[in-house]
Amino acid sequence: MSQGLFDVIILGSGPAALTAGLYTSRADLKTLIIAGTKWGGQLQLTTLVENYPGFPQGIQGPDLMINMRKQTERFGAIIVDIQLKEVDVVNQPFTIKAGDQIYQGKTIIIATGADTQWLSVPGEKDFLGKGVSSCAPCDAFFYRNKRVIVIGGGDSAMEEALVLTKFATEVTIIHRRDSFRASKIMQDRVIGNKKIKILWNSTIKEILGKDKVTGVKIETKSKGMWEMPIDGIFVAIGHTPNTVLLKGINLDSKGFVARVEERNKQGQLLYFTKTNRDGVFTAGDVHDYRYKQAVTAAGFGCMAALDVEKWLEDHE
Ligand code: NAP
Repeated sequence: MSQGLFDVIILGSGPAALTAGLYTSRADLKTLIIAGTKWGGQLQLTTLVENYPGFPQGIQGPDLMINMRKQTERFGAIIVDIQLKEVDVVNQPFTIKAGDQIYQGKTIIIATGADTQWLSVPGEKDFLGKGVSSCAPCDAFFYRNKRVIVIGGGDSAMEEALVLTKFATEVTIIHRRDSFRASKIMQDRVIGNKKIKILWNSTIKEILGKDKVTGVKIETKSKGMWEMPIDGIFVAIGHTPNTVLLKGINLDSKGFVARVEERNKQGQLLYFTKTNRDGVFTAGDVHDYRYKQAVTAAGFGCMAALDVEKWLEDHE
């Protein structure tokens, strides 16, 4: 069943999507947000968020998302908790199928986010937020004078380990091979940091604990299976951007949505969040492999909304 024409359809329901919707609905644009059946993005899986400005005592991730949703709905954005099925970004107006509904939009903001890659070992899901994390800038503070491990061999793992050294007494990077893929500068920083130990050729087989993490079962090439007592494990083995349904949208070499900045003849920036398709914009982790913070996602959401407003003005 067709649900009429929207000025903007926003795909996603994390901080980027909800901030975009807040701005477009406050600008009086007819706004639809396709939130998915599990709305709220990665913050729904987080406990205390202490680095989102405006909450001096911190705020629980799910509470932050409920606040954002209420604030966006207050200005008239329609949020539907149904799963995206198809996106046509080729023919104007754009057509979106979600559940058994069909929607049409003059513009689209892709804010479908990225999912953390997890190890998928026993214990990992049970201890999420209780010793298992994927974000040192968010959670390192809770590991003051504790022993932590970081899993991975890329730049994220190096960065997580370096952040953790400011709080934890012991930081061990555990990597499945005998060399890192991280950039040389990041490797040098890690190797030069006396607080960081490296365990090569090792994989995590299980995360142990009762109410919270107390250790991990590790398999190391040279010594087989053994247990290591720890207080926290930071998984930094990459993110997968949610781009499966985005046929016709160019992705960058890492698989994230590619932005196409548009400037006028004087070199001034016209649009920051455009994709290769005219009228289709992007915001948040689906296009951002680098910063991956709630506050940066919200900022990108704001920029995409302002770009949509300008695009509609320019085209109507
Ligand atoms: P990445 O470069 O893809 O590295 C992922 C790491 O996790 C690899 O070392 C990989 O091992 C390991 N890994 C993957 N699956 C695993 C599994 N199931 N079990 C154990 N280990 C596993 O991802 P990233 O570190 O998140 O970086 C993503 C991009 O962001 C990169 O381009 C990076 O340069 C960039 N980035 C840059 C900065 C910075 O400049 N400061 C910071 C963060 C990220 P193998 O090596 O064996 O494949």
